[in-house]
Amino acid sequence: MENNFAIRNAVLFDGLGNPSYQADLVVNDGIIESIAVAGSTTKKNIPSIDANGLALAPGFIDAHSHSDNTVVNNPTADAKISQGVTTEIVGNCGSSSTIEKCNNWSNLSEYAQYLNSRKPTVNIAALAGHNSIRTMVMGYENRFATREEIKKMKDILVQALEQGAAGFASGLWYLPGRYSDMDEVVEIATALKGTGKPYVTHMRSEGDGILDALDEALTIAAAGDNRLQVSHIKASPKRNWHKIDDVIRMIENAQERGMTVYADRYPYIYSCTTLRMILPAPWDLIADVQKFLAEGDNMTIVADTLDKYNDIENDWKKVVITNSIEAHKQFCGLTLYEIAQKLNMTPGQATVKLLSEASPSAAYGKMSEDNMRRFLATPWVVAGSDASCVAFDYSAGRAHPRAFGTFPRFFQIARQFAPDEEVIRRMTSLTAEIFNIKKRGALIPGNFADMVLFEPDAYTCDFDFANPHSRAKGVKYVFVNGKLAFDNDDPTRRIQAGTFLPIPNKN
Ligand SMILES: [Zn+2]
Repeated sequence: MENNFAIRNAVLFDGLGNPSYQADLVVNDGIIESIAVAGSTTKKNIPSIDANGLALAPGFIDAHSHSDNTVVNNPTADAKISQGVTTEIVGNCGSSSTIEKCNNWSNLSEYAQYLNSRKPTVNIAALAGHNSIRTMVMGYENRFATREEIKKMKDILVQALEQGAAGFASGLWYLPGRYSDMDEVVEIATALKGTGKPYVTHMRSEGDGILDALDEALTIAAAGDNRLQVSHIKASPKRNWHKIDDVIRMIENAQERGMTVYADRYPYIYSCTTLRMILPAPWDLIADVQKFLAEGDNMTIVADTLDKYNDIENDWKKVVITNSIEAHKQFCGLTLYEIAQKLNMTPGQATVKLLSEASPSAAYGKMSEDNMRRFLATPWVVAGSDASCVAFDYSAGRAHPRAFGTFPRFFQIARQFAPDEEVIRRMTSLTAEIFNIKKRGALIPGNFADMVLFEPDAYTCDFDFANPHSRAKGVKYVFVNGKLAFDNDDPTRRIQAGTFLPIPNKN
């Protein structure tokens, strides 16, 4: 594909929520040069693609990604580009390896350089994560931070924000974030003041303590720049499903008070996290689970407790192992109930066995389908996969189906409640606005040519945990910075033209 080309006869969605219309769009040197009513384009002599009535939208923006390392190791970004995602926000849930020292970088600026040298297919913006920052300052110590440690953490955040981090993300449900109290996070979050950047959080609880956790999130955001992004908004398990009325009310009250609050959500009722999160208190606070299980009778004690407090229908049949070490390969895609049968053990024993040998990922089916649909119908909820950009094959790890399927599923469910242009806005420009990504997320002249050409009614996916890696249907071409990044007729071909997107502080 040339540098200067046209896409003609497209049904153009500008991403800003305006009604679609038949248009021709001209790209020049990675930038959208012009947009005109179909047939009226003056530049007739440049190469052109006949869209033939397919929809042309801004490339989708994944508000909630964990591709920090994955995109470096797998810059082809198969999972994301194949569904039309052209930009990912990484560093969610408090975990941001982009700012942690490793062999290839020691801070966000160096990460950006290194990533660009790898030629990613997608653009990447990065949040700075509290868990990463806390680990850098105090390891996995189970205690509150001292004044001095808090000051160090804040300094690290300030530096990351100056180097272009898109915001501050916490994962207070995870270690070591769980060891912190609210005052610590409030104090660190003051670094956001005046930057225009959001506080993004996987809250301390999405279950029994969800309302207190949301209250904490609002307090922390208020100490920052008064902007909150609630990660993968949900309430689970079943005994908490009804709480989403209060969750929605609290958020809308905060919006009425003048606070900027948004949320992201993936269109599945299975979450995906580590298997270790199945451990009840006090074992949830143990940093090294394998070491703990190797001691004394701990395996038996934990297995018995798990068997006592989990039942077959509501628990063991609702937890699926998604990814683990090679030796666990035969368990991936199976429920803990099925694995227990295979191993001739109780489910508790099977769980402990897996945890003693590795750190598997697991999907937990504890959410309400109705609640999910309600969130997808909510105007302040944007699409976010909560997944990383794994490869078509399983070489980069095995994913929850959401890695490849979030955007088509989000689109098909949300369009039952709103016009397509409004749903597309919540997959593009609204997300760009939340994270201050300039010149992307909207098809207007002067913006970068990140675009997806697709067929709205055919834009679907039907993969499951047994076969989670597959291509969304209905995507024809995806362009990143004006280059053809994905062609459905030749799905492994790529021009890898993505780049790191440093987000400047407002002041
Ligand atoms: Zn999370």
